[in-house]
Amino acid sequence: MTETETLIIGAGPAGAACAGELKKQQRDFILLDKQSFPRNKVCAGWVTPAVFKALSLDPKDYPYGLREFHEFIIHLKKRDYSLKVKQYAIRRIEFDRFLLEYFGLEPVLHEVKKIEYSGESFIVDGTFRARYLVGAGGSYCPVAKYFIREDTGTDRHRTVVAVEDEFSYPIEEDHCHLWFQQEGLPGYAWYVPKAGNIVNAGIGGYAETMKKTGENINDKWKWLTAKLERQGMVKGHVWHEMGYTYRVRAKHPVLQKGNVIFIGDAAGLATRDMGEGIGPAIESGMAAAQAIATGKRLSAHSVRKNSFSHLKVLQQLLWQRIL
Ligand SMILES: Cc1cc2nc3c(=O)[nH]c(=O)nc-3n(C[C@H](O)[C@H](O)[C@H](O)COP(=O)(O)OP(=O)(O)OC[C@H]3O[C@@H](n4cnc5c(N)ncnc54)[C@H](O)[C@@H]3O)c2cc1C
Repeated sequence: MTETETLIIGAGPAGAACAGELKKQQRDFILLDKQSFPRNKVCAGWVTPAVFKALSLDPKDYPYGLREFHEFIIHLKKRDYSLKVKQYAIRRIEFDRFLLEYFGLEPVLHEVKKIEYSGESFIVDGTFRARYLVGAGGSYCPVAKYFIREDTGTDRHRTVVAVEDEFSYPIEEDHCHLWFQQEGLPGYAWYVPKAGNIVNAGIGGYAETMKKTGENINDKWKWLTAKLERQGMVKGHVWHEMGYTYRVRAKHPVLQKGNVIFIGDAAGLATRDMGEGIGPAIESGMAAAQAIATGKRLSAHSVRKNSFSHLKVLQQLLWQRIL
């Protein structure tokens, strides 16, 4: 049996940030993932400046493909707006590997199947024993399934179902486009051009709302791809869409139960306004490590609830309406 103080399950942004911070604090830990890196993750790869700030990293020093946006084109109902921003796009296959390199981490390849609690420590698959257990396994995290998912009946109201495709394409339209309140979608659609002639196009919405209104995410996906074709933004591409679900932040997210800590998608922490999950995953991972190092409880206040200042966005949109 391998013993450690903290066992982290999942080496995505949440697990990597937690392990990186524990390493900085010179604490003992083991980081596990069922996949070897680089591995892909269904995700548009939009990152906010807050992500680089949390990592204490100048975006200029990011060694892989990075696109900076100074403007988002917002399509709201039938009107188009320009939102001045400073935002970024990365590819997850590169970014998640970069995080491990940046923190100097080498995850152990292991798929977690069985978790036991002896009253003092956690035993995972009869192989690892730890005092703290960190659930960083994403939407279907085995730790969250075992310790919290059963007692949260409200999860489905916060579940976002999303479909996307990421592919090489000779980009002509290099603005990021977002479509809101279109075709009855309770969410939004996106077109994100990335560095190195990569495009990510996708669509996401609240699963429960769609179920109630009889809407279907696949129909919305067809609407988006037809629109991109019609507008000449993506022509002649054979689409290979992939779907995934994740949850936006609850009013009172469960982040800790005794010595079990939940971070990132395992805790359902994506921002309420935009469903941004990478930043909250990193922020919660770092805060979890600090909680372990100091013996204090992990507080939800250490993780952002929203991606944007709503007041600033509203001011910009209203101003254009007036003009
Ligand atoms: C279509 C789509 C688009 C999105 N777009 C954006 C975006 O543009 N910007 C943004 O900020 N967020 C976006 N998100 C959300 C974002 O992808 C997630 O919030 C983010 O990946 C959460 O990171 P995480 O580390 O918690 O989980 P993950 O990145 O899912 O990592 C979890 C890790 O746990 C491992 N794991 C799982 N089970 C086990 C097990 N049993 N044993 C061992 N290892 C295990 C997995 O292999 C994986 O590596 C999007 C999500 C979707 C679905």
